[in-house]
Parts: sequence; C-alpha cells; structure tokens
Amino acid sequence: MTTIPTNLQAVRNRIAAACTNSGRPADAVQILAVSKTWPLASVLEAAGCGQRAFGENYVQEGVEKVAALAGLNPALSLAWHFIGPLQSNKTRLVAENFSWVQSVDRLKIAERLAVQRPLDLPPLQVCIQVNVSGEATKSGCAPAELPFLAQRVATLPGLCLRGLMAIPEPTEDVDLQLQRFHQVRLLFDGLKRNGLAVDTLSMGMSHDLEAAIQAGATMVRVGTAIFGARE
Ligand SMILES: *Cc1c(COP(=O)(O)O)cnc(C)c1O
Repeated sequence: MTTIPTNLQAVRNRIAAACTNSGRPADAVQILAVSKTWPLASVLEAAGCGQRAFGENYVQEGVEKVAALAGLNPALSLAWHFIGPLQSNKTRLVAENFSWVQSVDRLKIAERLAVQRPLDLPPLQVCIQVNVSGEATKSGCAPAELPFLAQRVATLPGLCLRGLMAIPEPTEDVDLQLQRFHQVRLLFDGLKRNGLAVDTLSMGMSHDLEAAIQAGATMVRVGTAIFGARE
C-alpha cells in the first residue's frame, strides 16, 4: 500500500490552511513535487493524483526520467523543473530537456541556456536562485547582484524570467524562517518595481512551507512530505 496519494492530499491541506491563515486564495500556491532519488513509479503515482509539476536536482537522473516518461505517456504532459546546482558543462542537457530552471545564479549559466535552448521548444522558464543566508549556504546569487542579473536574464532570447527561488538555511526557528522568506519577498517586489513581469516566488519545502506561504510564496517545492524520507 502506497502513501503517495494520502501524503499529497495532506500537503494540499497544509497549503490550503496556510493560504487561509494569511488571507490568500487557496489556488495562490502551486506544488512542485520534488521527485529526486524516487523512481518513475512514484512520479506516475503522483501524476495519477493530478500532480503535473515535478522537480529534479541531478541533471542525469532528471533527463532519464523526462525521456522515459515522454516515451511512456506523452499525453500526461508533465512540467519538469530543474532545481539543483547547475555547472556550465551540464547546461545543454537542461536546456534540451526541462521546461523550467529555478537554479540560475549567474549570467554565464543563463547565457549558455539561452543559446542552447532548442528553437522548436517554448522559451525555458527561469527563476533566479537568490541566497539570503549569506555564508550559511553556497548556492544562489547575492542580493546585491540580483537587480543587474535579473535585468540581463530578462533580455536573453530563449528564456522567460519568471521570478525567484530560494533555499534559506534549514532551521526549526519559525521566526527565522519567516525573516528569511520575507527578505526574498522584498527582493521579488523590488524586481516588479523595476518593471520586470515576474510572477513566481518559489520558496518553502516540506518542513517550512507554512512560513513561506505566509511570506508570499507562489510555489512550494515538496519532496519528503509527498514521497517519504530519502535515503
Ligand atoms: C530536495 C529539495 C527540495 C525538497 O525538500 P524536502 O525537504 O524533501 O521537501 C526542495 N528544493 C530543493 C532545491 C531541493 O533540493
């Protein structure tokens, strides 16, 4: 007996409650199901419950799943998001296989993705990963560099800048969670004030999605709470 349908429903309920608590509409927050390390069968099971957006962290693993599922059931039309650290030598595989990349944190990576995105595919949907935890985490662009990077990414052909992604340092301290997510929200609002048409604020995971939603997340990336604990 599997628990994926039950888990997914529980996550939807948590999101609905968090939306209610912060006076936001129930459909204001999308779930990205993070399927890294889990087999195709798990993805198919979540897809069977209506889940359509899936996140992968490792290029090779993600590409294999994208290819296998496209072959199995193209009608499902799942959206695959790349959310892991991205090295220059892996950008082509990401540009050719994913619909979204949420972990763009420097111009060089964005430029490579733009050139490598096949012309017969829709633009690659991009979030810039921003680091609001300073030394505590390595990935992500510094807040001070964000306005320039965002303006440049927004002009690149083959890419569509959608917003920001953040992974603040893990903490049980809800006040600190809120503080970090609020910092990201302010950066997101700043991009809008600068005239960028961004609509996606990707923050919050299994343990802290309530705080992220309170701070304005429009997408939460949930692995463990849907698929179970990873090895
Ligand atoms: C693994 C991962 C997640 C999901 O984390 P859980 O705690 O399992 O929900 C979300 N975002 C990123 C970038 C991840 O690497």
